[in-house]
Amino acid sequence: MIPVKGYAAQSPETDLAPWDFERREVGPHDVQFDIQYCGVCHSDLHQIKNDWFPGIFPMVPGHEIVGKVVAVGDHVKKFKVGDLAGTGCLVDSCRVCENCKQDLEQYCLNGASQTYNGLEQDHKTPTYGGYSNSIVVHEDFVLHVSEKLDLAAVAPLLCAGITTYSPLRHWKVGKGHKLAVLGLGGLGHMGVKFGVAFGAEVTVLSTSPKKEEDAKKLGAHKFVVTKDPEQVAAVAGYFDFILDTVSAEHDYNMYLGMLKTDGTHICVGAPATPSAISAFSLIPGRKSLVGSMIGGIAETQEMLDFCAEHDIVSDIELIDIKDITPSYERMEKGDVRYRFVIDMATL
Ligand SMILES: [Zn+2]
Ligand SMILES: [Zn+2]
Repeated sequence: MIPVKGYAAQSPETDLAPWDFERREVGPHDVQFDIQYCGVCHSDLHQIKNDWFPGIFPMVPGHEIVGKVVAVGDHVKKFKVGDLAGTGCLVDSCRVCENCKQDLEQYCLNGASQTYNGLEQDHKTPTYGGYSNSIVVHEDFVLHVSEKLDLAAVAPLLCAGITTYSPLRHWKVGKGHKLAVLGLGGLGHMGVKFGVAFGAEVTVLSTSPKKEEDAKKLGAHKFVVTKDPEQVAAVAGYFDFILDTVSAEHDYNMYLGMLKTDGTHICVGAPATPSAISAFSLIPGRKSLVGSMIGGIAETQEMLDFCAEHDIVSDIELIDIKDITPSYERMEKGDVRYRFVIDMATL
């Protein structure tokens, strides 16, 4: 076994603290890479607090992981020592179900292995995430990362990036479309960048007028304060797509009213409590309310390559790992521009 250092929550009641644990030996198809940076996702906080479902403890969060390859198994073809590498939300899947066969490992019918707070494909070994100094992953679930981009700012692409890229590609959002990005946080700011890169007219919908300047800097063409009834009325029936990144409770019916006929409201943010949605928000105008979860491995690589080609990274604040708990407090208040990334050299 390979000894590694990390930060773990020992239970939902405790803060993250240093924890030493072990990774498996590098198998014939495994890649080991030393973690240089790990992004801080809102879901890290939800999972260590058991907000969504009972977690597996001790829990080492982190699924926006980048670093440098230090060992490869005998049969590894895609990586060599010294390469940059990344891993997102998945470290394995069954590979044989109909979704896995279509490069949709995130929807694996037999249960994909989440990077942390999950189980390996033996369905008993817990997975530990990127708040640690090294990781061992099957090469099929390791991504190539371009040397051209700022590595720390690449990390959030592995979750926030692919979560917004995948639905925009799936629904073919681009030139001629009016896209609204609802919420300007870690996901939303990537949604704006991709929407602009794909050629759509992008409007940010936010409760906070203070975010207008940032939205425009990120490339958004328009900004709507959703607390202002006049501004909301002005965009009734206006958008082809809404990319909804908000994980706090909100009224879907109001936003469905902003869609054109045949418009699509795409949920990527996940409020913890169910919402009331009137069928009358959907029926007149043949509207769709849909969801999307991260992306498959091939698409994640496509996204990273697209970002390298178009010089797209996340806007980040680099933090020391000892500041993780105060950073969570700031994240909960939406006080981060736009993703915290842990400098793992501080571990
Ligand atoms: Zn995430
Ligand atoms: Zn599968």
